[in-house]
Amino acid sequence: MTTKNFPQRYFLPEEEQPKSWLNIRAFMKNKPAPMLHPGTKQPITAADLEPVFCKACIGQELDETTEFIPIPDGILEFYRAYRPAPLIRAYFLEKALGTPAEIYYKHEGTNTSGSHKLNSAAAQAFYAKQDGLTGLTTETGAGQWGSAMAMACAFYGLDLTVYMVKVSAEQKPYRKALIETYGAELIPSPSSTTECGKKILEKDPNTSGSLGCAISEAIEKAVHTPKCRYVLGSVLNHVLLHQSIIGLECKIAFDKYGIKPDIIIGCAGGGSNLGGLIAPFAAEKLQGKSDARLIAVEPSSCPSLTEGKFDYDFGDTAQTTPLIKMYTLGCDFIPSSSHVGGLRYHGMNSTISQLYHDKILEARTAKQTEVFEAAVKFAKIEGILPAPESSHAIKIAIDEAMECKRSGEKKTILFGLTGTGYFDMSAYMQYNDKSMKD
Ligand SMILES: *Cc1c(COP(=O)(O)O)cnc(C)c1O
Repeated sequence: MTTKNFPQRYFLPEEEQPKSWLNIRAFMKNKPAPMLHPGTKQPITAADLEPVFCKACIGQELDETTEFIPIPDGILEFYRAYRPAPLIRAYFLEKALGTPAEIYYKHEGTNTSGSHKLNSAAAQAFYAKQDGLTGLTTETGAGQWGSAMAMACAFYGLDLTVYMVKVSAEQKPYRKALIETYGAELIPSPSSTTECGKKILEKDPNTSGSLGCAISEAIEKAVHTPKCRYVLGSVLNHVLLHQSIIGLECKIAFDKYGIKPDIIIGCAGGGSNLGGLIAPFAAEKLQGKSDARLIAVEPSSCPSLTEGKFDYDFGDTAQTTPLIKMYTLGCDFIPSSSHVGGLRYHGMNSTISQLYHDKILEARTAKQTEVFEAAVKFAKIEGILPAPESSHAIKIAIDEAMECKRSGEKKTILFGLTGTGYFDMSAYMQYNDKSMKD
């Protein structure tokens, strides 16, 4: 078959869908450095993590040798409710750009929570239920992760407490309503429900909150509640593992049609969707079977890979998490306010960091206004309103397609469309009335 036959929207038939996740670390010669205990500075052990995380997730976090990890039936069951995600050939965009490049994108925004985050939320909720837990806690910044966890906890029958950065809870009332509709308790952070929240409020009663502070509150609440653990939506390696479903679905579809992508592009906040999208392609590259270019795109306001340093750092502002060797802007870095809530994290997943350090992966930055220009262009041409985070990948995909137009090369480009922009209308309003700044 030739690529000409690739349907505009391709859905992988059920019997061909992935039954295992792919663990990129198993294919790396240079493994990411181990996480260190913040007190002893020794590599973290499963016992260190047990008061905080679910058992299966800890096992996956520490596993750097198993190449394929089976997806339990109880998770596949929930995946069937919203997967496969469509793999779309951007025929309209290719034509509008007049590029010889073929452009494909994986649309992870078709589920109700609106992003790829549900892939890991489903897994983490399932494992919590399997451990006999009754509740989970987490934090959410822009609200996508909180929405995904609320959906997953409703499905598996778990209580969920979401600490939402106060300013986001106020600015995104519909996100808050969605999370509450699915039955989760939403607490604007900082709050008086935890000791660390109280301390922060004492110092500054009018603080707008931060992700670092919400993380500290969620961990404290989990550790002090019986049969309760904490879940995180990005940055950690078990989250990347769960997200490999994205890349695996693309790879299986491409193999059927004899397509080999030359350039694979994903936006990067904590690195989970990017790690998931590139997983099978990075594995091939690490085995010398492919020389595809893999590109991470970050906002110029939070350039962890492109301007950070590669060193051990904390995952949170309060400096309570294990130390992670990663590209980081410093755990006290506070990015200037922007509309890309999901990409405003000071660090980067350790596997993504190592791949970048070893030049398996490239990184680029994009400015807010040029990202929205690409988003609006994409919405008009392809019909889909993209999340601002996803639009970073769109911007660079368009740049690469235009480069093909200049050089006459017929490259195949794949990018990750991580979510919908329905909950980001105030950002689109600012772009439309020209009040948005970089
Ligand atoms: C959270 C989020 C991201 C960034 O997170 P990663 O862990 O880097 O993938 C990107 N896009 C959307 C829509 C998100 O919700």
